[in-house]
Amino acid sequence: MNAANPTISAVPGSRPSGVYLHVPHCRRRCPYCDFAIEVGASTDGFVEAVAAELDLRAGEVRWPVATLSLGGGTPSQLPVAALAHLVSLVRQRGLASDAEVALEVNPEDIDGDYARALVDAGFTRVSVGLQSFDEDVLRYLGRAHDRRRGLDAVDLLVRTGLHVGVDLIVGVPGEGDDRLADDVATARDLGVGHLSTYILTLEADTPLVQLIKRGARAAIDDDHQADAYERVVDLTTAAGFAQYEISSHARAGRTSRHNRLYWQRGDYLGLGPGAHSFRVDDDGFALRRHTTARLQPWREALLAGRDAEHDDEVLDHDHAFREAVAFGLRDLGAGVVLERLAALHHAVKLDDVTRALRAAVTRDDVMVNEEGGLQTWRLTARGARFADRVARDVLGT
Ligand code: SF4
Repeated sequence: MNAANPTISAVPGSRPSGVYLHVPHCRRRCPYCDFAIEVGASTDGFVEAVAAELDLRAGEVRWPVATLSLGGGTPSQLPVAALAHLVSLVRQRGLASDAEVALEVNPEDIDGDYARALVDAGFTRVSVGLQSFDEDVLRYLGRAHDRRRGLDAVDLLVRTGLHVGVDLIVGVPGEGDDRLADDVATARDLGVGHLSTYILTLEADTPLVQLIKRGARAAIDDDHQADAYERVVDLTTAAGFAQYEISSHARAGRTSRHNRLYWQRGDYLGLGPGAHSFRVDDDGFALRRHTTARLQPWREALLAGRDAEHDDEVLDHDHAFREAVAFGLRDLGAGVVLERLAALHHAVKLDDVTRALRAAVTRDDVMVNEEGGLQTWRLTARGARFADRVARDVLGT
């Protein structure tokens, strides 16, 4: 194996590019959440600041982009006219005719008019921050919606023809076996095409830590969480959703192109406070940028014609290559071809990574197949549970 092998193209086809736009506004902070968000902050000037940021930084990504994704925070805290304006700003720069245009919404923000207006604004896909249909689970998580509101929001969105996915948080203390089965079956019956399943994690300094200490919430149980992860994979598979990433399950044709872009080493321009950006330059170095998560200074700088405060990180060839492999393994369908990623990052030392993967094969965490004369490495079902360990071995940390 040699990165200089002239028969191996650095880029399988053309590498995709996308735009991520972080909308930090939330109605309130959910007790388990440690994201970069703003509660109760004015949205005045947000769209104008994004327009200014796009003007300043458009040269950091290849146009047209294949995907546009609005995440948060809660993008649906913005009026739909503002969302439409944001889509049009990106479209003016170059959005592929078949682009995936996605956003995250919360159920309490959705009514029939809002749902229909999302289609008119050019969105093709929506991800609902549902977490569960179960009242007890929603109460534990401190969510702003109840089962009825969740059902109505998902139903309204599906009826518009948008591709609808829902997020589910699993491993919540007190949840019974029926809860997961009901959530998956209800989502399927409503016409949902994509499920993102996240294990509840206790992040430091979140209100949930204090609530558990005070006895106001039950403590998280690691064994229950491991069982819940396995169970949700079984349930989603039985319901016709294929697991194509550690936390992602989709019906045919409903995988998230934007999320796959992250795992398959695409370039993306991150706009908004707290957004990350990533690209690979012609020399194979990976460039990552972290924009300040503080809304006010971000907005003030951009409205004054200056770039917002940010940190830049440059990954050398070896580090960038190892990271590409660790990320790529998350894509259970595509897996990774070491030679392609090595060529992309001009990496010449494959031995350590190959050794780590071979050790993972002996543990049954990774499998390797010969495809088109090249070896493709993928996590096994067991490896998907221990993906962090495999990633650490690949990264050499
Ligand atoms: S709505 Fe989402 S981003 Fe906002 S606080 Fe709750 S979990 Fe965090």
